[in-house]
Amino acid sequence: MRDIILAGNWKMHKTIKESKELALCLKEKFAGLPLNVIIFPTFTALYSVSESLKGTNISVGGQNVYFEKEGAFTGEISPIMLKEAGAKYVIVGHSERRNIFNEPDELIKKKIRSVVENEMDVILCVGEKLEERDAGRTEEVISKEIRIALDGISREVLDRIIIAYEPVWAIGTGVTASPDEAAEIHKFIRSILDDMFGRGMGANMTILYGGSIKPKNFREFAVLDEIDGGLVGGASLKCEDFYDIGKILMECKKL
Ligand code: PEP
Repeated sequence: MRDIILAGNWKMHKTIKESKELALCLKEKFAGLPLNVIIFPTFTALYSVSESLKGTNISVGGQNVYFEKEGAFTGEISPIMLKEAGAKYVIVGHSERRNIFNEPDELIKKKIRSVVENEMDVILCVGEKLEERDAGRTEEVISKEIRIALDGISREVLDRIIIAYEPVWAIGTGVTASPDEAAEIHKFIRSILDDMFGRGMGANMTILYGGSIKPKNFREFAVLDEIDGGLVGGASLKCEDFYDIGKILMECKKL
């Protein structure tokens, strides 16, 4: 079933103290509102943030994961460890992981499996780079990312997957895709899911837009039926901005 979600990726920002302060502000702002909010603090802040948000409508998640349970993998973190720290979700395949840390689709596929096996949900990020878009390869790139990442996954497991369409050229740049363009890509993603998992499956999937979402530009995206919410980077670091984005989402989706 499709869910309306506001997700905030804090990336490599905020100390533990700053993270707790932001979490407390969000807790006050979003208290009792009918919106599914997920935040992704740094690993070091994950546990204390999740403790301070217990019993609220704000969940926490990990920004990344390694697929093994434990072992000699210096610098990595396992699904079990994330879960123990309070994570309910994990972002997999963020463009910064794909492009700065060279994560290939096959690794992303393994990560997704390990997250769902540990009963957490995945936000799978997909999106094209500027040169790929300019070369008219957007659909080809997105199709490949999804087909490899979700290859062999059962329909039941699909319930644990949320997709975020994040054009790489729109992340952290202040430039967004046009809302209609984004909606077209969401439609295209649903058609791939239909093709992979059977007719009607795409229509049930939650698909978020991400890329320079701000309170001043989000309404145009949130009003579109194809778009089930947002994955927000920079603007999720400011309590007021993130809350304003959430308010817009609730208004547009009539929550
Ligand atoms: C992101 O990190 O997923 C993101 C969309 O960042 P920003 O909102 O800063 O573009």
